[in-house]
Amino acid sequence: MKHKITRRDFLNGAALSVAATAIAPYSSFSIGNTGNGKDYYPPTLTGMRGSHKGSFEAAHALVMGGQRPNEYEPVDNIYDLVVVGGGISGLAAAYLYKEQMGPDVKILVLDNHDDFGGHAKRNEFESSGKMLLGPGGSLNLEQFNLSPAADQLLKDIGIEFKTLQDAGPDDYALTNPEAPFGIYLSKDLYGKDTIISGDWQSTWSGDGSYEAMIKSLSLPESDTNKLITLVSGEQDYLSDIPLADKETYMRRTSYANFLYERVGLTKKAAKVTEPWVRAIWGVGIKSVSIMEALDSGAPGLNAMGLPDSVTQPEAPENPNAYRTPMFPDGNASVARLLVRKLIPQVAKGNSMEDLITSRFNYSQLDLDDSPVRVRLNSTAVNVVNRDKELVDISYVSGRRAFKVTGRNCILAGYNGMIPHLCPDMPEMQKQNLAYGSKVPFVSANVLLKTSAAMRKSGTSLYQCCNEFFELVTDAPPVDLGDYSVSTNSGDPMVMYMLHMPAPEGDDNQSGRDLCRLGRHKIMASTFADYEREIRQQLIGMFGTNGFDADRDIEAITINRWSHGYAYEYMDLHDPQWEPGQAPHELGRQPFGRISIANSDSEAYAYVQAAIDAAVRAVGERAK
Ligand SMILES: Cc1cc2nc3c(=O)[nH]c(=O)nc-3n(C[C@H](O)[C@H](O)[C@H](O)COP(=O)(O)OP(=O)(O)OC[C@H]3O[C@@H](n4cnc5c(N)ncnc54)[C@H](O)[C@@H]3O)c2cc1C
Repeated sequence: MKHKITRRDFLNGAALSVAATAIAPYSSFSIGNTGNGKDYYPPTLTGMRGSHKGSFEAAHALVMGGQRPNEYEPVDNIYDLVVVGGGISGLAAAYLYKEQMGPDVKILVLDNHDDFGGHAKRNEFESSGKMLLGPGGSLNLEQFNLSPAADQLLKDIGIEFKTLQDAGPDDYALTNPEAPFGIYLSKDLYGKDTIISGDWQSTWSGDGSYEAMIKSLSLPESDTNKLITLVSGEQDYLSDIPLADKETYMRRTSYANFLYERVGLTKKAAKVTEPWVRAIWGVGIKSVSIMEALDSGAPGLNAMGLPDSVTQPEAPENPNAYRTPMFPDGNASVARLLVRKLIPQVAKGNSMEDLITSRFNYSQLDLDDSPVRVRLNSTAVNVVNRDKELVDISYVSGRRAFKVTGRNCILAGYNGMIPHLCPDMPEMQKQNLAYGSKVPFVSANVLLKTSAAMRKSGTSLYQCCNEFFELVTDAPPVDLGDYSVSTNSGDPMVMYMLHMPAPEGDDNQSGRDLCRLGRHKIMASTFADYEREIRQQLIGMFGTNGFDADRDIEAITINRWSHGYAYEYMDLHDPQWEPGQAPHELGRQPFGRISIANSDSEAYAYVQAAIDAAVRAVGERAK
């Protein structure tokens, strides 16, 4: 879930200037899902998804052990473009290339997973004969933050933003930053399992009945009073720092240290501010600067002694300006719209409404006579400029190794993998590509036979302090086309739960170190580990409302994203590079007939970055 609150725009803008897994031998690889027959429909698969068995072994053998097949079987005629990576960036690149170069160009998209979409995957369930959807990872479209090119592409593939915005309820906090939500405090740390629902966004801004809201957390009196003072704005905690130096201080000081040392909060109280920060950054309040935490909606903006022009931005003319449209399966619908445009025979229809319940025919994805082909279960392991005209792309599928040739290639997977894919690339470019670290996440969708216990809590999104899953929410309650989400308490529902595995770490560990540790933790955890955590946490949260894990849980899909968000540079851990000199900018230069897309190449973990990267890469190749 990426969803920055509106403050980010002005905090980043002008206003402040005023002021390990073991490597299997190569031959032992097997893939989890083979074949492309008529029953092949990965969205309904449950259990361990995301980085599922069969999707990562070839890449890990290459990256960790330098292992590649000795020989590759050449297949297919020469393509005009081969795209490595079937996430939104790769699919957008294929779409834009086709648009610019004409309908007859031959394009192949390779992806290592058994489904397309990258993080934008669809989790589909059925309960009592009814379809229920959840997002496998990526959820919201920040319409207010799109580049003109991304905006145009999304409209061209059939997205009507206003209709989509209106299709969801006003009080769903994932789409409406003003909506109320719950804070869950567990018995383990806070002595009692409680959910306190209300307008926390206003509370953290020092508006409304913020004192009463903070008191309702039942923290020790000293913490309660300090939190109230923090949000009230009555005290300038940085009064010893001249206004001109405040930004530097706020970028160099960890938010956790600020809360402990200047505000005087205990760790337990400070944890209340953490879940959303972790959802945005993947790491905790110790690893983000004051500025980054405030940007993510954490409390304290009024307590820095900043001018009103910073703390009281003008309200947008349109009160819905910052509401984010969302599909019931999140951005999987963006991926599906792209695929249907590229390969119309996968599904009938031409609107976003008829897409939503449409069952794609995966057997149509990779047909000989189709100008565009999407080939799943295929991990690229070697990408080499053969000469000035052609690129050879070798990939592994199951136990077999193949080679295709393209006149152009766009790498839309992960930056960190490119140095291993392209051994001939200049060392400096490889180093720049390897700089960032993907931010790991686990997003689970839990199908519940009845929503009765959840409905009693009176809200639909929970920030869970110090819990395994720090964000728990109803899957998007969006009614679109024939798809509708029941709010009757007796009916089934899907809960979306987000886990950020990066540990708290110590002062010597950078954000990138913590992401790597989180990645190892994810890969070492089993489905049973996640299932246990889900059951325990839902019992803690909703047990007193009558939730019974044995009775109520019908299915679980774990989306394991060991390579999650693109790495965004962090105030505390990365230098400020001159424009054009940041590692992602130096690393993404074209290499022969190979260009680089994917959100890593924009160092920005959002759909719009994935599309912007595709626009740039296609601009380099469509000549
Ligand atoms: C849990 C989660 C929630 C998110 N929520 C949001 C959100 O709400 N809003 C938002 O804007 N963004 C969100 N994001 C960010 C998301 O990364 C982007 O929105 C976008 O989907 C990234 O697209 P991409 O194509 O750049 O990368 P990816 O989605 O990672 O796609 C790249 C694809 O290339 C494949 N690949 C890599 N290497 C190879 C290889 N060698 N051979 C073959 N295939 C390869 C990958 O496995 C993957 O399938 C979320 C991310 C996660 C993990």
